[in-house]
Amino acid sequence: LPLNKEINDVLHQLGVKEHNPAYSTGLAWGGQQDRTTRSILSPADGHLIATVNVATAEDYEQVVLAAQEAFKAWRKVPAPKRGDIVRQIGDKLRQHKEALGKLVSYEMGKILQEGLGEVQEMIDICDFAVGLSRQLHGFTMHSERPQHRMYEQYHPLGIVGVISAFNFPVAVWSWNAMLAAVCGDVIIWKPSEKTPLTGIACQHIIRDVLAENDLPEGVFNLIIGDAEIGSLMSHDHRVPLISATGSTRMGKKVGEAVGARLGKSLLELGGNNAIIMTEHADIDMAIVAIVFGAVGTCGQRCTSTRRLIVHENIYEQVKERLLKIYPNLPIGHPLDSTTLVGPLIDKDAVAAFKNALEKVQQEGGRLLTGGDILSGAGYETGTYVTPAIVEAENGYEMVQEETFAPILYLIRYSGEVENAIEIQNGVRQGLSSAIFSTNLLETEAFLAHWGSDCGIANVNIGTSGAEIGGAFGGEKDTGGGRESGSDAWKVYMRRQTNTINYGRDLPLAQGIQFNI
Ligand code: NAD
Repeated sequence: LPLNKEINDVLHQLGVKEHNPAYSTGLAWGGQQDRTTRSILSPADGHLIATVNVATAEDYEQVVLAAQEAFKAWRKVPAPKRGDIVRQIGDKLRQHKEALGKLVSYEMGKILQEGLGEVQEMIDICDFAVGLSRQLHGFTMHSERPQHRMYEQYHPLGIVGVISAFNFPVAVWSWNAMLAAVCGDVIIWKPSEKTPLTGIACQHIIRDVLAENDLPEGVFNLIIGDAEIGSLMSHDHRVPLISATGSTRMGKKVGEAVGARLGKSLLELGGNNAIIMTEHADIDMAIVAIVFGAVGTCGQRCTSTRRLIVHENIYEQVKERLLKIYPNLPIGHPLDSTTLVGPLIDKDAVAAFKNALEKVQQEGGRLLTGGDILSGAGYETGTYVTPAIVEAENGYEMVQEETFAPILYLIRYSGEVENAIEIQNGVRQGLSSAIFSTNLLETEAFLAHWGSDCGIANVNIGTSGAEIGGAFGGEKDTGGGRESGSDAWKVYMRRQTNTINYGRDLPLAQGIQFNI
């Protein structure tokens, strides 16, 4: 671990130990020496943080068996008691917030504030899940038959497979895992192969809690691997639910594999999110939301603002304001407190950024600012870029796609807000959307059923930075899944309708007479 002392301390504090960087799973089955390994380099400075073993199909088998075994015990633990375990996990995360936030930042490249924010999101979902553990409610209904009672109840599903993306290396897993856990499920988590260390750190935190409570570690499992392991999970009938977060390309494969075996899938895929600014927008407010949405996490949030649809009457003014801000954005090491824009995850992402800019210009787009790869002191990794703004048309092929990088497409509209909404909805993705307007008629049109077609529609708030209390997810190519707050928990359970006869006769439903 050739790192500076601070990051080494963080790794140690989180249980990711020197001489033992090899975890393919939370289970202590190690020992095999001839494994494929993967080097984890920080996008911030290119340093090798650790080397991890990549799990094999045999390892996966062991993890599934451990999870199946743990499920037998875990489902019998009363839900509020399961909630108490999640409370303890939340407490441990509070203790480790600083260290885990730093590791998230260093491994993924998001700035420290956002790394800490991600851990806070984990703590918040733990709190939410604790409350939820006493509220896994079903309805009761009146039976049409005398002395009969009907109700429905929710039972745990079994193993929930969580496949997560690199950009929220831990929060998205916790949204799924903490809810699934109070629902009585056990979890197998395959983090992104680009950010496994934060997963290993979380597994250590959880392992302690489970041990302190005499619970098997198989309740929360971790498996390190790439698409191959993900594919084993999605084809495996022993995993009734797969929750997969990532690109639409990946979601289509996972959805197909899970669908072919009639399993359940929860898909959280790519977005192509827009902010509409009408001529009644509060421009000062909107600017903050736009810049945070477009350049925050270096444009690598599923909810990042990719398109800005501005009314022609304020278009020039908005453009001018953005062009003053963009060249002065502090770009640098994510752990430096003055930085607002960190690096892209790797050089492939940089190539995709450059490629998108080139193609959109070939289509007629006009690059107004940014688009460069930074070099020199502090930027040796080649992963730092200057956020770009491009004047474009919504119909351009590149504008229709999600490029996971800080590119903001500026699109002009004229006339009524309906025209802007049509542009906004005119993409295949349907995750997050926002309108800036102080005119109630416009904002209500945006929220109407003929308005935004996205899973998230915000008024006078940007597209990124959702709270855990609401159900999170999107429509169309975004996959249709919902997780986190509201009643998203229901997907982690199976619903059962129960009819109970407390009389001495057996009347049949629909009044059917069946005399034997
Ligand atoms: P990715 O699709 O490359 O990988 C995501 C995960 O899927 C990884 O763990 C990967 O190993 C796994 N995977 C890839 N192919 C697979 C297959 N065939 N079968 C099973 N698993 C497979 O995505 P990424 O680059 O890590 O993340 C960026 C993408 O994720 C963006 O499109 C972003 O919008 C999306 N995302 C969506 C949400 C959301 O909630 N909607 C949240 C975060 C990220």
